[in-house]
Amino acid sequence: MNTERRNFLKTAGLLATSAVFSPNTLLHATKAPKTKLGVALVGLGYYSTDLIAPSLLKTEHCELKGIVTGTPSKIETWQKKYGLKDSNIYNYQNYDKIADNPEIDVIYVILPPSMHREYTVRGANTGKHIWCEKPMAPSVKDCQAMIEACEKNKVKLAIGYRCQHDPNIQEVMKVAKERPFGKVKLINSAAGYFDARTNHWKQNKALGGGVMGDMGVYALQGARLAAGEEPISVLARASTTRPDIYHEVEETMMFELEFPGGALAACQSSFGINMNHLQVNYEKGWLKMEPQSGYGNNKGSISNGTIINYPLASQQPKQMDEDALSILNNKPMLVPGEEGLRDIKVVEAIYKSARTNSLVKI
Ligand code: NAD
Repeated sequence: MNTERRNFLKTAGLLATSAVFSPNTLLHATKAPKTKLGVALVGLGYYSTDLIAPSLLKTEHCELKGIVTGTPSKIETWQKKYGLKDSNIYNYQNYDKIADNPEIDVIYVILPPSMHREYTVRGANTGKHIWCEKPMAPSVKDCQAMIEACEKNKVKLAIGYRCQHDPNIQEVMKVAKERPFGKVKLINSAAGYFDARTNHWKQNKALGGGVMGDMGVYALQGARLAAGEEPISVLARASTTRPDIYHEVEETMMFELEFPGGALAACQSSFGINMNHLQVNYEKGWLKMEPQSGYGNNKGSISNGTIINYPLASQQPKQMDEDALSILNNKPMLVPGEEGLRDIKVVEAIYKSARTNSLVKI
């Protein structure tokens, strides 16, 4: 039994005893409830180093307490910068020992996608809550295993879709829900950037590379959130202009989605093209966002004259604070594992369609 569970049972036992014998004992026996959660980052690459760790300093309800790394040379820098204790530094082998660390409440998995399942399942087995980066995992089977592991261990699971915490994107979702301009007719959703790197896991199939899991899920999220429903069929085409770099995985993925209400979406994602926009055409109007999946600069307009431009310096502190509050208040996560799974179901269909050059029903 891990320490957290032991502590929980101890506290529960105290509560039961005190409630019967003396309410005053209860006041002294129970600790003040936590208002901040200790977070351990797994994987110290670009996103952890440049975005998540600095953003944790801006949160109210989180604290960077630990790291899990396979690169010992990074440890000193991280310890100096974030004041991390020796006892809160882990590697991929002793990772499971986080179970015994009461300072860590949440494990944030920020590794290549093919590693998300293992580190989420092992993390959930430590009894800690899990935040996992997008794409949730390479396959539906992996996503289901991750959800099951978190359910079995009674811990919460959130996927790092920061845009769903952004009031600008929430405005797109609100229009999809309330439909003030009638049905959605056509969506155009694009997300891509020119990646000049020539030797990275994003070009490696076994590690979960390929543009679809990286930028493609932003194009897909744009379409799904704007439609407000799940696609029923897809027609996709994968391509590359740099076969020397992108020979295992696609550099570009274009895909068309069909939604049950009749809406169609034309989506593009690429590691070779800088683009980031969403256009939604309704029966009686339109909505445009550009960019649609930036870190803090998403903005747009609606045909009725509304400007969508809520100021938000960056999404990550808001995402982590909201996820921390969901844990502290035992509320559902805004972006649970099931939402990551919804995308991966479509992603699997997109790959099948591109492979077979045919329309795939979802
Ligand atoms: P990165 O390559 O910069 O970092 C990956 C980390 O994983 C490194 O610390 C590396 O040492 C470690 N690692 C362990 N085993 C590895 C292996 N076998 N091969 C390669 N690296 C290995 O990647 P990143 O850009 O930080 O992306 C990590 C995750 O974060 C991905 O899931 C990515 O999609 C996600 N991400 C999300 C956002 C966002 O806006 N939500 C932005 C960037 C990245």
